Amino acid sequence: MVDSKGSSAGAFLPSGDDEVNISPTTPGLVCAHHHLYSALARGMPAPPRTPREFSEILELVWWRLDRALDLEMLRWSAMLGALEALESGCTALIDHHESPEAIEGSLSVIADACAEVGVRASCAYGVTDRHGGGRAGGISEGARRGLDENDRFLAGGGQGMVGMHAAFTSSDDTIAAAAELAIRHGVGVHVHVAEGPADADAPERLRQHSKPDWLLVHGVHLADDHGLAGTIVHNPRSNMNNAVGYARPSRFANPVALGTDGIGAAMLDEFRLAYVRHREDDVSASPDDAWRWLGTGWELMPEAGNDTITWSYDQMDPWSLAFTTGVRPLEVVVDGEVVLRDGVSTRVDAGEVRARAAEQARRLFARLEEMP
Ligand SMILES: [Zn+2]
Repeated sequence: MVDSKGSSAGAFLPSGDDEVNISPTTPGLVCAHHHLYSALARGMPAPPRTPREFSEILELVWWRLDRALDLEMLRWSAMLGALEALESGCTALIDHHESPEAIEGSLSVIADACAEVGVRASCAYGVTDRHGGGRAGGISEGARRGLDENDRFLAGGGQGMVGMHAAFTSSDDTIAAAAELAIRHGVGVHVHVAEGPADADAPERLRQHSKPDWLLVHGVHLADDHGLAGTIVHNPRSNMNNAVGYARPSRFANPVALGTDGIGAAMLDEFRLAYVRHREDDVSASPDDAWRWLGTGWELMPEAGNDTITWSYDQMDPWSLAFTTGVRPLEVVVDGEVVLRDGVSTRVDAGEVRARAAEQARRLFARLEEMP
């Protein structure tokens, strides 16, 4: 809360003393799992047939989309996603990226777009063996190129993690190589874990490698005592949309953070959803839990705690916000600079970004129509 205790992120966290935050300001919000490459996907052509389960949603929707991306599409997708994050009061994104036909340089394209808009970003390329190619030492050519992109970006001073798509699309050698690369760069691994039943054996495959600085995304099908180290990122809207089930994140001993899985970066919306999903499962649930998950973002990207959002509403506490929709940022200050004033970006022309993104979306959709 922002009062006599100051404006740091830690002070904004629930204090347990039932104080109401009657200030319209908070630190910058953090999205702990995003896919900026999905910003152009809205309204995309229907898949060749209707997906009947989660594995088909991956194959028929997302894995076709990522194959269709080139770096120009990615640039405007990231610009649009970063702009929409700021317009939602989110100043820090932890992104997870895949574009198998345009791997090299992709993380720099995303980082540069975020920097241009004024959003902090942590980037990772999702290594996977699902695209095949020749194998050397149990690592496919596609996975090797993904590892190289993470290495190139991090070695060049980029802020990020080592990305891995998921254990169920990666060989044991690829998993070991990603874990080793992360240690070499002093960062964690950002990986989808047990989102659907197909990945339920992820704990066995990852347990010997996982560390507290890993991001374990979803965890829907994890056992309570899964034994993995790291922060679990809960993405309630995405989980509902994919009909994979409820992760019940309050059961885990791990820290829990909130992400959107690429459906925007409106973290107050995600907080509200996390709360009602929790409540639906347990009528005694309090919004303090989802609020704490939102606050875990500042442990992952502490620099966002120094950003300031001035909101259109002045009761920025969990019980008020859980039932108040449409709260929007009026001003956003990142690293001392006003990057959003009266709800409008000071860095970029929002109309221009939307127009360029729409142009690239048309290119993307045309390419998707041509794909088998
Ligand atoms: Zn994801």
